[in-house]
Amino acid sequence: MKNLSKNLLIAVFLLFAITAVFSLFVGVEETAPKTLTLSDLAAKINAGEVSRVVVNGEELKISLKDGTEVKSRKETETGFSETIVNYGVVPEKLQTMEISVEEPNGFKYWMGIIIPTLLPVILMLGLFWFIFRQAKTGANQAFSFGKANMKLWSGIGEKITFKDVAGLKEAKEELEEVVDFLKNPQKFLDMGAKIPRGVLLMGQPGTGKTLLARAVAGEGNVPFFHMSASEFVEMFVGVGASRVRDLFDTAKKAAPSIVFIDEIDAVGRERGTGLGGGHDEREQTLNQILVEMDGFERDTNVIIMAATNRPDVLDSALLRPGRFDRRVVLDMPDLNDREAILKIHAKGKPLDNVDIRAVAVRTPGFSGADLANLANEAAILAARSNRKKITQDDFFNSIEKVLLGPARKSRAITENEKQITAYHEAGHALVAAGLKDSDPVHKVTIISRGLAGGYTLKLPVEDRHLKTKGQFLADLAVALGGYVAETTIFHDVSTGSSSDLKYATEIANKLVTQYGMSEKLGPRTLGKNHEMIFLGREITAEKDYSEKTSEIIDEEVSRFIKKAFDMAKKTISVYREALDAIAKILVERETIEQEEFAALIKSFGIKQVVIR
Ligand code: ADP
Ligand code: MG
Ligand code: ZN
Repeated sequence: MKNLSKNLLIAVFLLFAITAVFSLFVGVEETAPKTLTLSDLAAKINAGEVSRVVVNGEELKISLKDGTEVKSRKETETGFSETIVNYGVVPEKLQTMEISVEEPNGFKYWMGIIIPTLLPVILMLGLFWFIFRQAKTGANQAFSFGKANMKLWSGIGEKITFKDVAGLKEAKEELEEVVDFLKNPQKFLDMGAKIPRGVLLMGQPGTGKTLLARAVAGEGNVPFFHMSASEFVEMFVGVGASRVRDLFDTAKKAAPSIVFIDEIDAVGRERGTGLGGGHDEREQTLNQILVEMDGFERDTNVIIMAATNRPDVLDSALLRPGRFDRRVVLDMPDLNDREAILKIHAKGKPLDNVDIRAVAVRTPGFSGADLANLANEAAILAARSNRKKITQDDFFNSIEKVLLGPARKSRAITENEKQITAYHEAGHALVAAGLKDSDPVHKVTIISRGLAGGYTLKLPVEDRHLKTKGQFLADLAVALGGYVAETTIFHDVSTGSSSDLKYATEIANKLVTQYGMSEKLGPRTLGKNHEMIFLGREITAEKDYSEKTSEIIDEEVSRFIKKAFDMAKKTISVYREALDAIAKILVERETIEQEEFAALIKSFGIKQVVIR
């Protein structure tokens, strides 16, 4: 008891001693509230964030519109308005706020004496409290690995909406429904509708997946919880799963809300394919995600969005109904989209008569991220040469920098590749147009979609449940159209045809072994396919025929392919001029839509051939 009081006495004495020393050094000016420089204040006034300024001699007390109080000082004897205008404030802005002058009074005088003596005491106590708390959390940290370090984007920073996302028209249309639901979930629940649960955004790096997910949150005005799946994998064993739990719990509390899992392929790869023992951290994390998604009540207003550029490696369990059953593809931007994206990123930058379209024309194969990068590089170039405005050449000169930059992951097309791709796609499109049994061409483009180079989109006129041999042959011929065009024009083949050839071979194989369309082998199936339904792909094919039959199958497959090849070759050589015309437009404008294509075909008098 005696000891304790003695210690206390010493402590109090020490405290007073420290306080006395402190008060010699600590003046009232350096203390809270926060002090702004005059140029910071000027910026805030210009941004319209200031509601009131009270001038007291040299001191300025500033009330911000968001309720916080800050301080500033003006050095000179000149009036406040005059001083601040010198710092670049627009005089009109001063009229939108309250300015008053206060004389020093008795209260202030006493405060000026009390605060310097009291403050060190408070500081000391604060320090003790801080140290104490540190020690406590230090001990706790060992148990809080599992706390998800989520990034919350709601209200903080600028809100992103669909307006900030250029192009991606189809993706936005599909997500409109999700936004609608977030805004008014009851409307959907009242109708007994199943709410969207998981949305998978697929697209190459830099196509705007993260941006679009944020825009959905912004449009729906809901909190956005962002997490990168690759972070899970780096964790200690068992931590990934608990982080997932944490993330979902937080999101549920904030519902309606969006959980965004970036790079989901990092955890969502087909299970059992992990190197070094299957049941690793990745797998546990994935399982936990599935458990959480399945455990949602019907009326939990949490939407899970995930992004990947490798949809092909995803575990099929992720894609099952009730999980990520909505898939949205984000295409690489074509000419018009690139122009729109550049415009968004050029906004607010001082341009010197820059023809944005011309920049777009020179940047095929650039992703949205590349274009954002490009606009930034152009601005940096202008600033470094001390110019006030960004010129056309700044943009052009930055193209190369972005192309060669280390951060680039996506694929840019060289002029030569553009020619080859244009003829390749023109080949597909022309053969499709020339064959009666083929579906009409909807769109031809040399801008890559998903993982393919360019593509030619054909859509059937009506819903079809049966497909004839003629139609299959037409498909085969169209698939080979790209290959034939390349060989005809360049007398060479590129790797761009490999997936076409694979497709053609698969189709031909099915014609022979599954549909009984080979005359030589007749109406029978060959081989037993064991489809592992739960993995969603063919695993094994068991032979149930002789070696001799096997040879005939090979022959027949080759015969179908040869026949289709001849059809494609004939169409392309007869309508060579049309092929050149289509390729030329593709080189110039990258995309041809249905109407234009149909008109073009008509102008060349192409008559459709029926294959037998
Ligand atoms: P991803 O997640 O697909 O890799 P991001 O969403 O991270 O791509 O895109 C990176 C940046 O590129 C965005 O922050 C944005 O500045 C720009 N960007 C990408 N696509 C677009 C677009 N369609 N419109 C406007 N900006 C885009
Ligand atoms: Mg991203
Ligand atoms: Zn092709």
